[in-house]
Amino acid sequence: MYCPFCNSTQVAVVNSRATKKDSQIWRRRKCLICNEVFTTYEKIDLSHLIIIKKSGRKERFIRAKLYAGIYGSTIDKKNADKGEMSELAEEVTNKVEQDIVALKRKKIQSVEITEMVLKILGKRAPDALLRFLAYREGENKKRLGNLLDKYF
Ligand SMILES: [Zn+2]
Repeated sequence: MYCPFCNSTQVAVVNSRATKKDSQIWRRRKCLICNEVFTTYEKIDLSHLIIIKKSGRKERFIRAKLYAGIYGSTIDKKNADKGEMSELAEEVTNKVEQDIVALKRKKIQSVEITEMVLKILGKRAPDALLRFLAYREGENKKRLGNLLDKYF
């Protein structure tokens, strides 16, 4: 770590925490040479993670794909998204990433990720959870009914 002001490498961490909605570590650093204070963010990297699909097919974890899946299946088609749905999808994606990191595993089943999404949506946005379940289950009303029993 270099000080952005004087390029010295003598930098100390003076404060550190996980940001509230983000899967990021926030650190306040202080240069010991010029005494300037600056902030750094460290993002979670899950590029090593392997997802095992229901079909048994394996693929690498791609954050954008998870986000798009959550956004696409929770968006309220009757009402235009004024930004709150993309914010929700971002928040849920971050929380899922944190939960995956906490598992300390190299592989995860796609259904486990779906369960995480359901759990987070259930707490955070029941309306969006309903749309997510309906989207996932499509015409399969019976199974949708069972899932709703489980989450409400
Ligand atoms: Zn400095």
